[in-house]
Amino acid sequence: MSQLLNPATHGDDHPKSYYVATAHPMPEHPSLTGEVHGQVCVVGGGFSGVNTALELAERGFDVVLLEARRIGWGASGRNGGQLLRGIGHGTEPFRKVIGDEGVAAIDAMGFESVELVRERITRYDIDCDLRMGYCDLANKPAHMKAFAEEKDWLQQQGYPHHVELVPRERLREVVGSTRYCGGMIDMGCGHLHPLNLLLGEAAAAVKLGVKIYEKSPVTRVERQADERYLVHTAEGTVQAEKVVLCGNAYVQGLHPVLEGKVLPAGSYVVATEPLPESTCQRLLPGNHAVCDQRVDLDYYRLTPDRRLLFGGLCTYSGRDPKDIRAALRPNIKRVFPALGEVKLDYAWGGMIGIGANRMPQIGRLPDGIYHAQAYSGHGLNATHMAARVLAETISQESQRIDVFNRIPHMTFPGGRKLRSPLLALGMLYYRMKDLL
Ligand SMILES: Cc1cc2nc3c(=O)[nH]c(=O)nc-3n(C[C@H](O)[C@H](O)[C@H](O)COP(=O)(O)OP(=O)(O)OC[C@H]3O[C@@H](n4cnc5c(N)ncnc54)[C@H](O)[C@@H]3O)c2cc1C
Repeated sequence: MSQLLNPATHGDDHPKSYYVATAHPMPEHPSLTGEVHGQVCVVGGGFSGVNTALELAERGFDVVLLEARRIGWGASGRNGGQLLRGIGHGTEPFRKVIGDEGVAAIDAMGFESVELVRERITRYDIDCDLRMGYCDLANKPAHMKAFAEEKDWLQQQGYPHHVELVPRERLREVVGSTRYCGGMIDMGCGHLHPLNLLLGEAAAAVKLGVKIYEKSPVTRVERQADERYLVHTAEGTVQAEKVVLCGNAYVQGLHPVLEGKVLPAGSYVVATEPLPESTCQRLLPGNHAVCDQRVDLDYYRLTPDRRLLFGGLCTYSGRDPKDIRAALRPNIKRVFPALGEVKLDYAWGGMIGIGANRMPQIGRLPDGIYHAQAYSGHGLNATHMAARVLAETISQESQRIDVFNRIPHMTFPGGRKLRSPLLALGMLYYRMKDLL
């Protein structure tokens, strides 16, 4: 098992990263001992869990949140920080199942999700380096054709933000690389410091009365005769009317049904030393976050202290690369050969939760347990939307969850040991297609 997957080898504290080095103070929360009560018990202290707790507390619920390690220890505190619209990776394949209305509802939530993050930052005055501006990069002409169609679609939907196709001749205005044949700027998307966003959200939740316990891995969820739940950790229990599981790719051993539908895949990020202003101007003159279109995609952006934060390298084997810097450096060189042997000050990775159909799994299981997971690498916005939808359901404010509940999610074959190698094989097929 990889170091990043296994807390026994990785420890309970945050792995070293640019985000941890530049984080606001991280108050420690106690670990759970004895018995506590709450109307809702949320498991997992990433964006999904913290925002579900926050949304519920905003609605007056008494909430207990249990995190196995520290707030933001999982993907939420380690990601690329790209705030992108959309839920999942396209709604069209689901039209037969959820109909035109269902597709329209999820598409609308794909826009709402980004506005929700922006609102939250404003409402709770969270300092997390939010910067609007994103550009999708085309690896081949077919991608430009797809961008043009998407731009038209956005216009039809009344998308209020500036969207612009950038042909190859003008791409230097966005990215100083000859690797791409064009791009599409979207000023409704952007980038931010994810760990500081999450810490701000957790602080807001605590102010509203949420009781957070860290270093409190949940070992068992028991449904009692009166339909309430007893949530067990090593040294304590939470009595709650409702339970929401938000462990995502790290949810091992807790709920076999949920675990079988989410596959952990590693993604890795490096941050360079601070670069001269002139270099930053050459690399990303508009300070956009960018991303290419391959299965093994490169995603990168600048930080406020002028580092290139560069991510990619998806692994499905369950093992981390031996040396993340050495593994990612060739990718940086392919994009920016002139950067040469730039010093990489930070290197880290985290686990993405992949679902077979790449649509987030948001719903309620027959055992009454609510959950949100499997954002397939596109979760910064979608976690916030999932949290809102779950809180609306629990407070009986809306039934927006129904559209997600109607989408079936396959259980990966092969059990815990064989799932990853099988996915690795499947992904090899898509990588070969990219190469061709
Ligand atoms: C390297 C990387 C780069 C990424 N880049 C982007 C990006 O740029 N843009 C984007 O939109 N998305 C990105 N993603 C995806 C995004 O980060 C995730 O979709 C999102 O953070 C998922 O949030 P979450 O709260 O569901 O899960 P997580 O943040 O993983 O949190 C789950 C938490 O649950 C806890 N937990 C698990 N089991 C238990 C238990 N039994 N008891 C108690 N606690 C438990 C874990 O300790 C963990 O803290 C990236 C992901 C990675 C790994």
